[in-house]
Amino acid sequence: MKALSINNLKKEYAGGLQALKGIDLEVSQGDFFALLGPNGAGKSTTIGIISSLVTKTSGQVKILDIDIDENHSLAKKKLGVVGQEVNFNQFEKVGDIIRNQAGYHGLSFKDARENAKYYMQKLDIWDKRNDQARKLSGGMKRRVMVAKALVNNPELLILDEPTAGVDIELRRSLWDFLTEINNEGTTIILTTHYLEEAERLCRNIAIIDSGEIVENTSMQELLTRLEEETFVFDLKNPLQTLPKNLGYAAVLENPQKLKITIGKGQGLNTIFEVLSDSGIQISSMRNDTGRLEELFMGLVDSNLNGSER
Ligand code: ADP
Ligand code: MG
Repeated sequence: MKALSINNLKKEYAGGLQALKGIDLEVSQGDFFALLGPNGAGKSTTIGIISSLVTKTSGQVKILDIDIDENHSLAKKKLGVVGQEVNFNQFEKVGDIIRNQAGYHGLSFKDARENAKYYMQKLDIWDKRNDQARKLSGGMKRRVMVAKALVNNPELLILDEPTAGVDIELRRSLWDFLTEINNEGTTIILTTHYLEEAERLCRNIAIIDSGEIVENTSMQELLTRLEEETFVFDLKNPLQTLPKNLGYAAVLENPQKLKITIGKGQGLNTIFEVLSDSGIQISSMRNDTGRLEELFMGLVDSNLNGSER
């Protein structure tokens, strides 16, 4: 059983914008999963549909095997969502917001109090419980949202850009907290446009761009690939087979086109030597940067204030 499975999900907004063009996604139980993508990619739309705040155009969503259309209320019990925007009444007291949410999920008065206390303490907002929420800082409000999402102990927690615009201290403590509850068994899905955040926290990753999933793999595999670059060499004379012992990961695309993948920072100079020693003459060369790499560049550039590492 998967924590989440999404099948051919489409969303067309009024005016004809295709925000989701038929995405498929599966997240295993216990995973810490990143949905990474630039602004406008479709991350919040996806989360909105999962949490039934946005109506889908077509497709299927299951939370722990429960179809959100067939058994909406049961699916909702399994899910906690921390949205991008503040989603509580700012004039209520922090403690009431969280306890009332537990009541809304049908927890007993006693369980509601206990869970609310537990998460408020965990998130360091216990001493704010009698404060009106509007008086809290942005970071503190974010903690209230997390406590609110967790108060019924959902099996799947989804957070939409939880660290966008919050200070470094909160970001760190939130990362630690999420890692802890993931270790205790909660499946977590996080959207972010920070590659670094995904890299720190997540085991598996999907990259979404313009409403399409363009990559879906493990974080490890992705990082390995990021460390490499591919060059394309056009050859003066056609080649039928690659010379043995070239010493590089090389692919002969056609008799006049050779692709070589090297580690970033590994010099190109020796490649020319090796090729020339093998009697291969080059007419031109270029860096084979694909769509994915270009996307990465953008994601890496939008790093966390530059002050994190
Ligand atoms: P992300 O969360 O990845 O930044 P969104 O899911 O918010 O992206 O948006 C995906 C696309 O859908 C964007 O082009 C956005 O402008 C558009 N969009 C989002 N919400 C609405 C809406 N309510 N009405 C019309 N278009 C929308
Ligand atoms: Mg968004």
